[in-house]
Amino acid sequence: MSTERGDDLLARDAAHVWHPYTQHGLETDFLPVASARDATLTLTDGRTLIDGISSWWACLHGHSHPRMVAAITEQLGELDHVLFGGATHEPAVRLAEELVALAPAGLNRVFFSDNGSTAVEVALKMVVQAWLHRGEPARRVFVALEGGYHGDTFGAMAVGDPDPFFLPFEEMLFEVRRVPADAAALRNALDELGGRAAGFICEPLVQAAGGMVMQPPDFLREVRRACDDACVPWIADEVMTGFGRTGALFACDRAGVSPDYLCLAKGLTGGNFPLSVTLAHEATFEAFKSEDRGRAFFHGHTFTANPVGCAAGLASLAICRDEHTAARLDVIGARIENALTDHFGDGAHTRNLRRTGGIVAFDLPSSESGYLASAAPRLRALAVEHGVLLRPLGNVLYTMPPSCTTESECDQITSALLALDAAD
Ligand SMILES: *Cc1c(COP(=O)(O)O)cnc(C)c1O
Repeated sequence: MSTERGDDLLARDAAHVWHPYTQHGLETDFLPVASARDATLTLTDGRTLIDGISSWWACLHGHSHPRMVAAITEQLGELDHVLFGGATHEPAVRLAEELVALAPAGLNRVFFSDNGSTAVEVALKMVVQAWLHRGEPARRVFVALEGGYHGDTFGAMAVGDPDPFFLPFEEMLFEVRRVPADAAALRNALDELGGRAAGFICEPLVQAAGGMVMQPPDFLREVRRACDDACVPWIADEVMTGFGRTGALFACDRAGVSPDYLCLAKGLTGGNFPLSVTLAHEATFEAFKSEDRGRAFFHGHTFTANPVGCAAGLASLAICRDEHTAARLDVIGARIENALTDHFGDGAHTRNLRRTGGIVAFDLPSSESGYLASAAPRLRALAVEHGVLLRPLGNVLYTMPPSCTTESECDQITSALLALDAAD
């Protein structure tokens, strides 16, 4: 528990490790994390932090939930890993059954992979190949939202907004038509593309990495109608919004609509294990079924449907049901939003204070905006001083705590948000 141990860890880290989304020339203040329990991270020097962002939006029920630990440990001793090509196992089949039963109507087929980006890649590839099978090879151009984010692999980057993360790769990304979150703009783009339109992809209700930009459920109903009218599939990327974050099990449920493809990851295993799924219609599955091997969907990862990951997924779904995770997250979000509304008073509107379920965000008054704003590392450090882990997205401050967050922890998160706001 000594500071020395933390210092030593940081020195060893600095010698060999390359961190994600990190400019190592500017950032050196890594948090040496020793352990985690519920909503709390403990650092090697004994300091504790409330995980105000659920460790990159993954940790749904808090850290080391006893039921998650038990399910993972038990599965590890029973069947640790087996290939999923030409083999199957109970945890995968049961997880598929449960997901189909819970997902928006019509999504009957489950394809496993192991992270959010691959869940999106799978959906994009299924759409393209399904059009080929249906004799429409010209349908190659996806429509996506401005400010969207769908992951860091090439296909996921292509449908994401290149600014600012993907500019170095921009010329290598395939053609995508980007539109504002507006039904008329979407219809226009689909009309203009006509027989070249492949489909539409969006993050339903909350565009997360783009700055917690929120849309009302009505927009999703309009998306559904626009895609139906243009006869193209709609991919709902619920990698972040899935499993209760928006106050319903899925964001699409809030609008009462069903997409043609549903991508899930992060909270799928309670944020405890890398696993993801892409759900599709039975008709899509049928479009690949043939006596011709060449028409198969040639995609798969080594750890596809890993049994331990599937057991974690089943345990997490059971917790969602028994602990009313979606409703709890909604209560947590409302408490933080109310405290912020009280503080800002009439200013809440100009700050664009917003909430969807357990996700609360507002804009800092700072003139500097965008993800690369230089204030972010300073604000992160200040949040740590206030005992909370927060990572502002440029000039957007937000929180998305796990469902076990207590009232006093919520209030501490609010205090930290306000301290950052005052320091901006
Ligand atoms: C995080 C995220 C992804 C990418 O998931 P990874 O597991 O990080 O690859 C894709 N889409 C959305 C909406 C996300 O929030």
